Amino acid sequence: MFETYDFEIQWTINELLKHYDPIHVEEACKSCGNYNKVWSCPPLQLDVKDWIESFSKIIIRIHKIQFLQPNLHKDEMLKVFESERQAFGQFLMSEELSGDQCLIAGHCFQCEFCTKEKNLPCVKKDKMRYSLEALGFEVGSIAKACGVPIKWHFEGENPYYLTVGGLLKK
Ligand code: SF4
Repeated sequence: MFETYDFEIQWTINELLKHYDPIHVEEACKSCGNYNKVWSCPPLQLDVKDWIESFSKIIIRIHKIQFLQPNLHKDEMLKVFESERQAFGQFLMSEELSGDQCLIAGHCFQCEFCTKEKNLPCVKKDKMRYSLEALGFEVGSIAKACGVPIKWHFEGENPYYLTVGGLLKK
């Protein structure tokens, strides 16, 4: 029903910062149901530039989910995507060495319900990871620069989804 492909590219932090556009990205985040409801999502209590600049490089990782049948129902594709996104996030976390920090795609998935909705502290701070978009990075522009453009519409014969993350290294 689907195949997966993985891409990776190493960038300096300065190369990553070329895709930093926090005002524009946060505006887009405001239309998501997770905005201000998950601790890993905006608005963040973090000085992003200071934090990002404490690392020396990033390994961008892209996981492509290529569906093999045309005309699949979007809900069916989204179910596969969510399962792949979480598995990819767990894989990125397993790749962290001391001092590294991975960035997963989308919202934190560690708890069924995030405590932020009740204004209570995060219960698994050691497992919570930000996404590139939550930090203000343009994921579409990053994927394009890596040669794997995101498709926002699924017309045609070869629908695919991408999940874009990375590993920040000291
Ligand atoms: S670990 Fe749980 S409480 Fe913390 S951000 Fe993730 S979902 Fe929310």
